[in-house]
Amino acid sequence: MKIRFWGTRGSIATPSNNGLSTMKYGGNTPCVQVVANDGTIFIIDMGTGMKVLGDELMGLSPEGDKKKDSPFSKGEGEVNVFLSHFHWDHIQGMPFFKPLYIKGNRINLYAGEGCEKNMKHQMRKPFFPVEIDDTMSTKNYYEFNNGKTIKIGSVEITVRKLDHTDDVYGFRFQDGDSVLTYASDVEHNLKNKDNLLELAKGADVLIYDCQFTYMEYDPEIHGMEGMGKRQWGHSIIQEGIKISAEAGVKKLVSFHHSPESRDSKIDNIIEFAGKYKKDIKNDLEIMAAYEGLEIKL
Ligand SMILES: [Zn+2]
Ligand SMILES: [Zn+2]
Repeated sequence: MKIRFWGTRGSIATPSNNGLSTMKYGGNTPCVQVVANDGTIFIIDMGTGMKVLGDELMGLSPEGDKKKDSPFSKGEGEVNVFLSHFHWDHIQGMPFFKPLYIKGNRINLYAGEGCEKNMKHQMRKPFFPVEIDDTMSTKNYYEFNNGKTIKIGSVEITVRKLDHTDDVYGFRFQDGDSVLTYASDVEHNLKNKDNLLELAKGADVLIYDCQFTYMEYDPEIHGMEGMGKRQWGHSIIQEGIKISAEAGVKKLVSFHHSPESRDSKIDNIIEFAGKYKKDIKNDLEIMAAYEGLEIKL
C-alpha cells in the first residue's frame, strides 16, 4: 500500500499570505491517495488537493501541459473515492478533478447517508456551471453505514462512525498485513471512541485530526479565559498519542491542520509531541502530514 498526501489543511484552503507561511505543510484541504498492492486506486476525501491529484492522474504538468498518456487521459481509469463527510473542505476538489470529465473513466463514490443526492447537490447551478450528471465519466454511488466492511481489489475497508459536528466516518484500510487508519474531523473521548479504537487497532499508520493545540481546545485548564474549541468537532495531538498508545499504532500522522497554524506552529506541535509521548508510548513515530508526503507500507 502506498499513501500520498495531496491536501492536509482543515476547514478552508489556506495559501501562504503576508505573515502566515503554509508552504511547508501545504494549504490544500484534505485529500489522500492510497494505491493498493494490486494497483487499485483509492482517494480519501475530496478537498482542494484533489485538483492536483487529478492533474497527476491525467499525466498533466502543474501548468496543465500534457506530459504523457495515462489510463485516465484515455478514459480507462478507475478510482474508488471514500468520503468521510460532506463538509465543504472535504468536497470542494471534486468539480476540478479532470478525470471526472473523460468518457470511460469510472468514478466509484462511497459515502454515508445521502451519498448520491449530496454529491449531485454540490455540483449544481448556480454553485457550479457543470452538473455532475453532465460530466462524461461513469459515476457509481455506494452508500455505507456504521460497521460496514467493503472489499475492493486487495483491500478490505472497515467503516465506522466517529464524533464530529455532523455525521462523520473513519476508515481502516487493510491490504495484506498493512493497515492504514484515517480519522479526520473527529473530537476525542466522546460517544464513538470505541469505534476509533477498533479502526486504529494495531495500525501501521493513523492519520488523525490534530487541528487545535491543547491551549486552544481548553484554555480554562491553563487558567486562561475563553470558550475554547470544545464541541467544534476536532482534536489535539495529545489525544492522538493516547489513542495510538491504547490501540497499538506504530506511526501517528497529524492532519487537518488549522488554517490559523503557520508552518512554525506545526513544527512546535510536533516537537512538543515528541516530548509528551515519552511517558505514554515512547516508540511511537510522530510526524505532521504535508503535501507530497508519501508513506509506503
Ligand atoms: Zn474538515
Ligand atoms: Zn468536518
